[in-house]
Amino acid sequence: MHYTVPHYYKRFRCTGGGCPDTCCAGWQIQIDPASLKKYSKAKGPVGSRLKNEIDWNEQCFRQYDGKCAFLNENGLCDLYLEGGGKKAFCRTCRTYPRHIEEFEGLREISLSLSCPAAAELILGSGEPVRFLEADDPAKEESYPEFDFFLFTKLMDARTLIFRILQNREHPFRLRAIVCLALAHDLQERIDKNALFDADRLLERYSSPSVWTWFERRLNMLDSDIRHQRLSLQTAGNLFVILNQMEVLRPEWKARLRGARDTLSVSEASPGTGPEEFHAIFPDVIAEQLMVYFVFTYFCGAVYSGNAYGKMKFSLACTLLIRELTRAEWIKEPSGMSSADVLDIAQKFSREIEHSDFNKCRMEKMLDDEDRFGLEKLFSVL
Ligand code: SF4
Repeated sequence: MHYTVPHYYKRFRCTGGGCPDTCCAGWQIQIDPASLKKYSKAKGPVGSRLKNEIDWNEQCFRQYDGKCAFLNENGLCDLYLEGGGKKAFCRTCRTYPRHIEEFEGLREISLSLSCPAAAELILGSGEPVRFLEADDPAKEESYPEFDFFLFTKLMDARTLIFRILQNREHPFRLRAIVCLALAHDLQERIDKNALFDADRLLERYSSPSVWTWFERRLNMLDSDIRHQRLSLQTAGNLFVILNQMEVLRPEWKARLRGARDTLSVSEASPGTGPEEFHAIFPDVIAEQLMVYFVFTYFCGAVYSGNAYGKMKFSLACTLLIRELTRAEWIKEPSGMSSADVLDIAQKFSREIEHSDFNKCRMEKMLDDEDRFGLEKLFSVL
C-alpha cells in the first residue's frame, strides 16, 4: 500500500479543551458497527453511560444543546478520559480530522479544513505544499473495477495542476484559469474515450507559452464591456448554489444571508478590490485552498469520470471562501485579520465538506455550463 500526505500532516496537534470550534459539537457523530459492538459490551460506569448516551437506532452519540453527550464542561471527552484513552474512540473520533481518499493500492490522507487546528496548518503555511509518500508492502489489495489507466492520467494531470497552481511568478488568477482550462480539455478526452491523447495535452499545458496565451485571453476578457456584468452574475450564481445546500448549523444561514446582502450592494466585481483586501486574502491563501481541494477531490474523478467537475468544485469552494471574506471585509475593513479568514474557511468546510449531499449537489449544479462555463468562471476570478 502506498500512502500520500501533505508535508504539514505530522505537525497536527488537537488543541482539545482550547479548541474554538470543537468537533464534538454541531454535528451528529456516527458510530461504526465494530465500535457499536464494543460499546454494547462495555461494563462498569463507562458501560452504563454508553448504554444511555448512545442512540442505538440512529447509531450515534446523543447530543445535548448540540454537543456530544461525552463532551465535558472543560471541552474534553469523558469517553477518552474514563474509557482508557484513544482506544475507547469510535472510528469517526479516532480518524478526525484526517480525511482518507481510497484508491487501489493507495491511500491519500489529508487534514480536514473543518478543524481549526488543521485549518491553521493548511492556510498558515507560506511555503508551497509538498506531498510526502510512504509504502507498506505488507498491505496489498485489488479493486476489480478500478480504471487504472484513467487514474494514471488523472494523477499525471494533478501533478501538473499543482505545478501550475504553485508557480508564484504568475498571479493566482492566471494560474487558476490555466488549471480550469486544462481540466476542461482533459474532460473532453475522457468523454470521447481519447485518453491516449492526454499526454500530448499535458505536454501542451507544460509549455511556457501557455502563460502568454492565457494572459492574452484574460486581457481580452477584462477589456470586454460585458466583463463586470458577467462577473457579478456568476458570483451571484455561486451563492445560489450555497443557498441550495443542507444547513448543518443555523448560524451559517445568517452568515450567508449577511454576506449576500453586503455583496449585492457592492459595486466592485469579485476578484477586484483595493490592496487592503489583497493583504487580508493574498494569492498564497487562494493557492493553499485550491491545492487543498484539488488534492482531496480531483482524483476521485476515477469513480465519477468527471475531472472537470472536480476542478470546478475546487475552484468554486475557493472563490466562495474569498467572496465570504470579501463580504465581511466590506462591512469592517479595518477590523479583519487573517484569523477571520481562517474562521470563514473552516466554517465553510464544516458546512460543505462534511455533507455528502452538499458535495454531490454542488458538483451537479456546477455541471450547468450555461451558468458555470469556462468564460463565466474566468470572469469571477
Ligand atoms: S476540531 Fe480539531 S482541534 Fe478541535 S477538538 Fe476536534 S480535532 Fe481537536
